[in-house]
Order: sequence, then structure tokens, then C-alpha cells
Amino acid sequence: MKAAILAYHSQNIAGDETANNDHVALAADLETLHKAGCRFVSLATLVDAIFECVSPAPESPLVCLTFDDGCDYDVRALEFPPHGTQPGLLQVMEAFISRHGSTAQPGLHATSFVIASPEARRMIDSKSLFGAGHMSDDWWHAAEAHPLLAIGNHGWDHNHPDLEEGQYARGGFDMVDSFEHCQQQVVQAAEFIKAKTGRRPMFFAYPFGESSEYTRGEYFPMHRDEHRCLAAIGTDPGLVTAQSNRWNLPRFVCGRDWSNPAELLAILSVETSP
Ligand SMILES: [Zn+2]
Repeated sequence: MKAAILAYHSQNIAGDETANNDHVALAADLETLHKAGCRFVSLATLVDAIFECVSPAPESPLVCLTFDDGCDYDVRALEFPPHGTQPGLLQVMEAFISRHGSTAQPGLHATSFVIASPEARRMIDSKSLFGAGHMSDDWWHAAEAHPLLAIGNHGWDHNHPDLEEGQYARGGFDMVDSFEHCQQQVVQAAEFIKAKTGRRPMFFAYPFGESSEYTRGEYFPMHRDEHRCLAAIGTDPGLVTAQSNRWNLPRFVCGRDWSNPAELLAILSVETSP
């Protein structure tokens, strides 16, 4: 069975081509992967198929979509100066469905990994976006209820280096290497997200794709009752297999690992049908 998790960032907009705009890339990738015979599934379906040995193994390559950081550009058409109004990534998926009908890819779904802390989102919005409040949480509840979306956990505050030093040293997410710090980043975030969406997130995506030996080797495998996640996802490029580490699943990142649909087919080793 061939399976891959793809990551898009809705704030990656520097033009209107697949190489520099993740919205344009997603639209093109959906068409190309559909035509190449891939089957879009949710992260939950993919993880189940890989680790619970669903039989018979699906013949089509399974592809699941993830969006990182939870900007409002995930779900809303918004102005992104100076590049004009961008459709939300959700609207890109909906446009695919209007073109092909809802039965063409019945499993089409994306997990949007959000940052819990309102203060961290405010800071990232003002430093990395436009300070216009485009990292809100007022859409999380509707997203979780939407058939095409689920909300995932991207940590309490991304341990973002721009945030003030608190109880813990700031820097990469591999600096998170104690039980208490994991509880803050994973469980405190999960509880905040649940209060907004009504459902505890099932998946965690490591901020910056980074994790410490402790987090992936001890915290996630040994404290399942605490975090109650089904898997954690990194950004090491690669296909997901039964041999993958459930607590650091590989993921291909748009822009870093491919810049057009042909490159995406190549890294997935999927042949284009004649
Ligand atoms: Zn991130």
C-alpha cells in the first residue's frame, strides 16, 4: 500500500504560481493526483489503513491533506497584500468537488493544525502576517463540524522564538523534552481546542516538524492516556508505511519537497495514467 501525508501552509503566498502559492498548488495537485488515480482520505483513515492492517489493502495510493498553523486563509477567502484575494484552502477543495461531483473523491478531507494560545497567535499574526486578526479561532467549531475538515493540535504556542521567555526556554520544538513541557504543549493545547470545537483533537503535528527524543520516544508512546492522540506527525519527507514511527509520521511539505504537480507525482512515485 502506498500512502502519503501532504502539508500546505495557507500563508505561503508570494505570487500566483504553484511554486510560490500554496492555494494555487493545492488546486493543481488535487486535479493531478485525482487524474493519476490517487484516493484522498482523512488522516484518521490513513492511520487506520496503515497501522490497523485494513484488508484488502487499497490498490490506489492514499493521500491525505494537512494544513499547518491554522491561519484564517485555511477556510476564508481573504485579501493577501499585495497578491490580491486568495480563496481559502477549503474553498479550493470545494471548487474541486463542484467540478468533479461529490462521488469522485468521497474521502476528500484535510486536517487543519491550529496553534492554541491566543497570545501566540496574536504575536505570529502581527509579526508574520498583517496584524489584521487572521489567526482567529472563531472558525474552529464550524471547521470541526464540516465534512471536509478536522481540527488538529499544533501545540500550545509553537514554542515560537519570538514569544517571551516563560517557564521554558524558547526555540525549536525539539527543546520540548520534559513531561511537564509536553503536557503544556500537547494537553493544555488539546483542552483549549476542545473547549472551542467540542472535540479533542486526535492528531498532533510537531511545530517546525521538530521533536525531541523524549517527546517522540517516551512522552507520546508512554502517556497515551494523557494526550489521547492517535499519531503525531513530523515533516521528515517520505511515504507512510507500517514501519513508520507512529509518533513521528513522515510528511511531504509543499514548496520544500515539490513545487509543481509533476514533482509531486515523482516524489510519490505515482505514474501518470496514459
Ligand atoms: Zn507550524
